[in-house]
Amino acid sequence: MQIHDYIVVGAGSAGCPLARGLSDDPYISVLLLEAGPHADRFWVHTPAGMAKLYFDRVRNWNFRTEPMPRLHDRQMYWPRGKMLGGSSAINGMVFIRGHPGDFDGWRARGNPGWGYDDVLPYFRAMERFERGGDAWRGGGGPLSVSDPVERMASSHAFIAAARALGVSPTEDMNGEVHDGVGFMQHSIRNGRRHSAYNAFVEPVRARPNLTIRTGCAVQRVLFDGRQAIGVEVRHGDGRIETIHAAREVILSAGSIKSPQMLMLSGIGPGEQLRRHGVTVLHDLPGVGRNLQDHFYVHTAFRATADSSYNARLTGWRKFREGLRYLATRKGCLALGSSQVAAFVKGKAEEPYADLQISFRPMTFNYHRDGQVAVDGFPGMGVSVYQLRPTATGTVTLASPDAADKPLLTPNFLTSAYDVETMIEGIRTIRRIMAAPPMASRVVAEEIPGPGIASDDQIHRFMEETGNSAHHQGGTARMGDDPLAVVDARLRVHGVERLRVVDASIMPFLTSGNTNAPTIMIGVKAAAMIRQDAVPRRPIARAQAET
Ligand SMILES: Cc1cc2nc3c(=O)[nH]c(=O)nc-3n(C[C@H](O)[C@H](O)[C@H](O)COP(=O)(O)OP(=O)(O)OC[C@H]3O[C@@H](n4cnc5c(N)ncnc54)[C@H](O)[C@@H]3O)c2cc1C
Repeated sequence: MQIHDYIVVGAGSAGCPLARGLSDDPYISVLLLEAGPHADRFWVHTPAGMAKLYFDRVRNWNFRTEPMPRLHDRQMYWPRGKMLGGSSAINGMVFIRGHPGDFDGWRARGNPGWGYDDVLPYFRAMERFERGGDAWRGGGGPLSVSDPVERMASSHAFIAAARALGVSPTEDMNGEVHDGVGFMQHSIRNGRRHSAYNAFVEPVRARPNLTIRTGCAVQRVLFDGRQAIGVEVRHGDGRIETIHAAREVILSAGSIKSPQMLMLSGIGPGEQLRRHGVTVLHDLPGVGRNLQDHFYVHTAFRATADSSYNARLTGWRKFREGLRYLATRKGCLALGSSQVAAFVKGKAEEPYADLQISFRPMTFNYHRDGQVAVDGFPGMGVSVYQLRPTATGTVTLASPDAADKPLLTPNFLTSAYDVETMIEGIRTIRRIMAAPPMASRVVAEEIPGPGIASDDQIHRFMEETGNSAHHQGGTARMGDDPLAVVDARLRVHGVERLRVVDASIMPFLTSGNTNAPTIMIGVKAAAMIRQDAVPRRPIARAQAET
């Protein structure tokens, strides 16, 4: 019989630091189960490889939403990482904690221990910021955080133009001042992606008390009464394997698979579970509700030649850039997805910035076959998303089969407040791109183009082209109200020895990209779980000893 103290399901942004933190105690045995394969691939390590992993059929779950009536019945493609490192192995590597007010807001919603002063020590402990540590930043943690290896002139121009419009500068948006305009930081180490796996698990993978298994898709949690006692894994050949946990099972499978797994284990909205023939263990109506995401709208500008690095990634020059990367780990292949961000208000009544405008000195498109094509002309890409959307969606079961993808209904643009905020975001992009010194670098607005001017036209453009920023969260949210799924210690309400530790637990999304706060959740959860030190189940203890 296989038995481990803790079973962590999912080796992603939260699961990796969680497994690391638990196994720091040599007397605790930890099993980290990952559905996908290992991540040792050139394009996983290379920052520019993000574009190549976007449609990957093996290391990506390739989710798709339900048709969205407000978006002309479009079905939106949602990639999620499926390998050691999870989505941190396919993401854009932007590293941003979020605004301190986000965490204070989490605490104010009935979650003691999650205010910014509570979580700051974990943010500091988890990172090795290349400028070193101080009262805000950490200089000695496992995860490398770096400034862009190259700063393009047009990126400086974007910052100057935003400043000319009154946006204040921030030298470190993960430090004292989040709002404002400045260069982004990335989880990149010496020109290579530093995923949660690379940072937290790879260096300690030889620990005798840490077992890592890939290719293990958990289909449900097993219970004895109301106590979680293990998991059931279905292998590719159809074989079912049962693995036991002496202390706890922890779901870190991400905002789509964690709620699905809860429901398939009998924890979720009772009526929905019964409809699919799942026996209800605990009727918990909030599971799969409160799906939040950052709705993302992209614009593009034709630029002067020195404003874009498109030319370096097309024709013969791309081979030169590739050789340069191989020799030095520098150049555009070593850059994260965006260089600069402006955190600004779209609605005056918001307490802090509710729009993120990200700038990148390049433009590209995907062909139908998933191949990336960098534009053959100098281009600059600017995108916007609303940081705290008011519309929420759902993750629901499509069937009782764990191999079937769940139904994803995000409800983008169903709130007038969100639509107005996003329209203001597009207008802000245009104001920045028309302000000096940026104005002289813009040759023409390509997307959406000057013909899209009125609010109605911009609204329609967003409906037709808007995408996800791939920041899904909130589907097993933390709180103490009837729709909360976990408590502030991340224990699932109504059952024992089961927690959720990943982006699902966010009461609302953080104001920025979501990888850094999700890693923090994993780091903090490890500390909490060790403090709580749930004793081994008596039967499991006896079985472990025989
Ligand atoms: C394309 C893309 C770009 C992004 N860019 C950025 C960015 O630049 N900066 C940023 O901050 N954020 C970015 N994000 C978001 C960020 O990466 C996620 O918010 C974060 O990784 C979520 O972490 P998680 O632990 O909740 O889930 P994940 O990291 O997705 O981990 C879940 C893990 O569980 C595994 N799993 C799932 N089901 C099972 C099962 N049944 N059994 C076993 N294992 C299972 C999965 O394979 C996966 O490895 C991006 C996301 C994507 C997809």
